[in-house]
Amino acid sequence: MAISTRISQALHALPKTELHLHIEGTLEPELALRLADRNGVTLPFDGIDDLRSHYRFDNLQSFLDLYYQLMSVLCTREDFSDLMFDYLAHAHADGVHRAEIFFDPQVHMNNGLDYDLVLDGLLDGIARGRAAYGIDAALILSVVRDLPVESAQTLLDAAAPRADELLAIGLDSTEVGYPPELFERIYARAAGMGLHLVAHAGEEGTAEYIRQTLDVLHVERIDHGVRIIEDPTLVRRVAAEGIGLTVCPLSNLRLQVVDDVAKVPIRQLLDSGVCVTVNSDDPAYFGGYIADNYAALAETGLSIAALADIAGNSIEACFAPEADKAAMRTELDQWKTEYSDLLG
Ligand SMILES: [Zn+2]
Repeated sequence: MAISTRISQALHALPKTELHLHIEGTLEPELALRLADRNGVTLPFDGIDDLRSHYRFDNLQSFLDLYYQLMSVLCTREDFSDLMFDYLAHAHADGVHRAEIFFDPQVHMNNGLDYDLVLDGLLDGIARGRAAYGIDAALILSVVRDLPVESAQTLLDAAAPRADELLAIGLDSTEVGYPPELFERIYARAAGMGLHLVAHAGEEGTAEYIRQTLDVLHVERIDHGVRIIEDPTLVRRVAAEGIGLTVCPLSNLRLQVVDDVAKVPIRQLLDSGVCVTVNSDDPAYFGGYIADNYAALAETGLSIAALADIAGNSIEACFAPEADKAAMRTELDQWKTEYSDLLG
C-alpha cells in the first residue's frame, strides 16, 4: 500500500541512527562516472545508461563484482571527503543523527592507495558533515572476508597507529565459505586496540555463522543476521543479551535474500524482543537510503509505532556516549508527541 505524504514526512523526521552503511556503497553512478573522468580511470561502460543497466543483481556476488569495479574511481583524499560529505547530507535529510560507517581499506590499498589517504579523506568528510549539519559519524574498519586473513593482519598493522580515530572493526563481503571463525585472531587483536566489534553474518550464511560471531569473535552487534529466524534458540539468546541486529530490507530485496520486503522478519524479531534496527547497506546500489527503507516497511503494513520502536532500538544499539544517546531519546520522545496521531 502507498503511504501518505504525512507518513513519509514523519519517517524522514524520525530521529534515528544508521548502523549499517558502507561508504563505498553510496557511490552513485553519476558520481562514479564523474570521478572516473576526473581521475583518468577507464571503466568498461558506455555512458550512464549502460552503467545503470548493470544494477540488476542475482545475488550478493553479482553485486560485489560491480561494487569493487567502481571503487577504482576513488583515488584522492578529496574523492573520499566528497563521498562522505554527500552521504552525510543525505543522511541528515533522512533524520539520521548519528551514522556508524563501514569502509573497506583493503580494496583501496589493493588499488594502490595509502591507508592514511583514505582515512584522512573520510575523516575530513565527517568533519565537514558535522560542521554543516550537526550530524555525528564514526568509522568502522571493515575486513573483506574473502581476501586472505594475512591481508587483514596487514590492514590492522596500517590501522594500529591511529586506532583511536576508529570506532569499531567489521567483517563484510562474500559470506558463504568464509566462516567468522577464520577471523578469531583478527578480532582479538582489534579488541586489544580498543575497537568495538561487529560483523556481517546470516545474510546468505546460516545461523551457525551468527553463532560463531558471538562465541568466537565476541561481537557486540550483528550486521544483517536475518537468517537467525531459522534458529529460535539463537533468537532468544540475542534478545536476552541485547545484541543489536542491523537489518537492511531493500538490500535483502535487491540481492534476492527475500522476494518481498514483507518477508524480511522484522515483525517476528520485534515480537521476540530482539533489538532490531533498519539501515540502508549500499543505498546507491539498492534503490534507497534509510528513510526509503523505513518507508518500504510502512508499505508492507508495519505500523508507525513499530517503526518508532526500531528507531529507538537504533539509538540503543549505537556506540555513542551515554549523554548523546540520552539527547537522541529526548528527540524521539518529542517526535512521538508531534506525530501522536500516527501512533494509535
Ligand atoms: Zn553490509
